[in-house]
Amino acid sequence: MCENCFLKGISGFATWQVYESVSKVIQAKRAAGQLVVTANPTLNSLVNNFMAVDAYYQCSSCQEIWGLSSPDNAWRGYFLPIKRAVIYMQRVKNLDRAKGIAGLMLVAVVLILTLWKMLK
Ligand SMILES: [Zn+2]
Repeated sequence: MCENCFLKGISGFATWQVYESVSKVIQAKRAAGQLVVTANPTLNSLVNNFMAVDAYYQCSSCQEIWGLSSPDNAWRGYFLPIKRAVIYMQRVKNLDRAKGIAGLMLVAVVLILTLWKMLK
């Protein structure tokens, strides 16, 4: 992160318009040579799927590699340095898992209550 690339990332675009304006800034910085499109830094397709990254950009000044994940329906996407993107994705996946477990527990409670009423 530096003045040349970006001073902060975005964990989830609030709206499509925010994503589009960030996209435009990225394109302008690419045109100016401040950002360069780079390959998946890990060269690992599993990591690529996990990260949901559409494009990687490297800063020509600080060498930071940024990942851009575009929003898609419920997915809000992000634009973050890769190291922070990994942490962000882990947090998102853990939250999804917690929601899944909470949903299963709710189903179990409803089942138990239904059975209990039937046996009464
Ligand atoms: Zn930079």
